[in-house]
Parts: sequence; structure tokens; C-alpha cells
Amino acid sequence: MYDYTGKTVLVTGASMGLGEGFAHGFAEAGADLILTARSVDLLEGVAEVCRSKGSGKVTVVPGDVSVEADVARVVETGITAHGRIDALINNAGVSDMRGVAPEQFDMETWNWIMSVDLNGAFMYLRDVGRHMLESGGGSIVNICSIMGHGANELNIIAYTAAKGALRNVTLQLGCEWADRGVRVNSVSPGFIITEMVRPALEGMGMDKWIASRTPMRRIGELHEIVDPVMFLASDGASYITGHDLNVDGGTNASNGTYQIPPIHQEWNADTAPRIGRGYEGVQPRPDWYEVMKAGIPGIHYTPES
Ligand code: NAD
Repeated sequence: MYDYTGKTVLVTGASMGLGEGFAHGFAEAGADLILTARSVDLLEGVAEVCRSKGSGKVTVVPGDVSVEADVARVVETGITAHGRIDALINNAGVSDMRGVAPEQFDMETWNWIMSVDLNGAFMYLRDVGRHMLESGGGSIVNICSIMGHGANELNIIAYTAAKGALRNVTLQLGCEWADRGVRVNSVSPGFIITEMVRPALEGMGMDKWIASRTPMRRIGELHEIVDPVMFLASDGASYITGHDLNVDGGTNASNGTYQIPPIHQEWNADTAPRIGRGYEGVQPRPDWYEVMKAGIPGIHYTPES
């Protein structure tokens, strides 16, 4: 869909997960790449695949996004090797799946998540943004999250705070740099299976619960995040800046999608077409209307009562 021939794209957190997917996507579109994360071995593996997929030149520069000197070194090494950076995919991130309630949350974990998801992202924005402003323009896509858009019941207060802040930084820098050739946008993904979320989604079966409350009734696939990011980074999005794009199967458009068919859909059921489908994970009994007149079984009364 895209042609990035002759463009250099810097991807942070490129060693696995979404970052690896972005690297592959840009490689297939002919981009030259600067790949960074902490593990040089993993990055070299990704780089090799990218070369085979179509990247002319791939430079691996290991570094920690939360360390200011590392960020400066990665950016400098990348510019020296490639001459310029046309696009930055600000993707590196961490989360915390312990399920610790906000009133118990420890500052060590809070500071770690902030240092990667917000401080690290900002340092890349600042250093690459400065280069782009001085060298005639560029495009930046931050990877935020639907968790930065509103409340959730997942006990990940630091992640929610960091991603919400990064979204606001996107809007702010989108405006501040708008008339100087540097576009800043973000993508807020819903859930995609990567190592970050695999234990909860696949290991604990949370993927089905998430699918049940997503209007599209499924979690996302890697290419469904890669393509929108490549669009926002491309010249096809030349009049778009300061925009956060939800890529979430409709989650943010919804007030909460029902898992149990709403009772009012039974009114006039014989004459009016049914709107929407119930979640397939919940199989209503043929007599469910009668059953649910007394409330939701298991919540308002025990099914046996
Ligand atoms: P992942 O754990 O598979 O990959 C994270 C990447 O960031 C890895 O390459 C890792 O090495 C790198 N990283 C982590 N800490 C770093 C540090 N201190 N310095 C340098 N690199 C570091 O996770 P993912 O799911 O691919 O996440 C990528 C981004 O997408 C993150 O910002 C995440 O918050 C966001 N996101 C993911 C999902 C999802 O469902 N997977 C949903 C919404 C947003």
C-alpha cells in the first residue's frame, strides 16, 4: 500500500511485538531502517528479516529509551549512518500486569513505567523532532493505547497515566510543530497479542472477555495496527497532525458493548428486525426472556433458585 523507498524510519522497541511488526511493514515498503531496543541479538534478528523483505539499509543501535544519553546516542548514530530521519515510530513501552490496585501502587513501578512510556517517548520526540525541524521536516507516530482514553478495570494506573499523557503530548507537539513541517500523530491500539499481554490474554483467557466487550467482537491483528501507523507516517497523511487514531474495533466509540442481549430487544421481536448481534460467548436459552425477567442469573439470583 505504501512506498517508503529512499526514506529512513527509526523504530523504537523494534526487537519484538508491535515494533517488530512496524519494522517488517516499513521494510516491505522499501524503507531504510534504524532499529533500537535493548537487546542487540534480537534486533540483529529483526534486521536480517527486514533486509530480506526489501530494506536497502538497516542500522541496529541498542539503547534504553529511559536513559537520556542512550537516546541521544541512538539518534546521532542513526543520523550519521543515514544522513537523516524521515519518520519516527515511538513505540517502546512497558506495562505492569500484577493487578495492583491504585491505593497500593508502589512508586518504583510507577517511576519505571513513566520513565519508559512517557519520559523515553518524550526524549525521542525532542531529539528526533529537533533534527526534523532543522532538516526540513518529518513525521512522527507515537504508540499510545486505548487505556489512555478513559477508565478501565485493569488496575494499571501508571500505564493509564503515561499513555494518557503521551496522547496529550501528541496533540501539543502536533500543534507546536505544525507550521514547521513536522507532523506528530499517535495510534491508540486496542488489544493485540504480543509478549506484553500474552500471559493475560492467551494464558488466562482474557482475550475472550476483551472480545466480548469490543464492538467488533474480536481482538486486533498485528497488520491492523501496522497499516494505520504506516498511513499516518506517510505523505498520504500530509494534512493530518495532532491526531490520535483509535485502532480498537470500535471500543472507544462504545459506552460499553453488551455481553448479554439487552432485554428490550425482545419487545416487538416478531415485527422489528433485531439490531446487532449478541456476544456469541453468551448463548441465551430459548426461554431467556422469561428467565431474565427476574434479573440476570448468577448476579441477581442463583440460577437454581
Ligand atoms: P512488547 O513487550 O512485545 O514490546 C515492547 C518493546 O519495547 C520491546 O522491543 C522492548 O524491548 C522495548 N522496550 C521496553 N522497555 C524498553 C526500554 N527501557 N528501552 C528500550 N526498549 C524498551 O510490547 P508490545 O505489545 O509490542 O508494545 C509496543 C507498544 O504498543 C507499547 O508502547 C505498548 O504500550 C503499546 N500497546 C500495546 C498493546 C497490545 O495489546 N499489545 C495495546 C496498546 C498499546
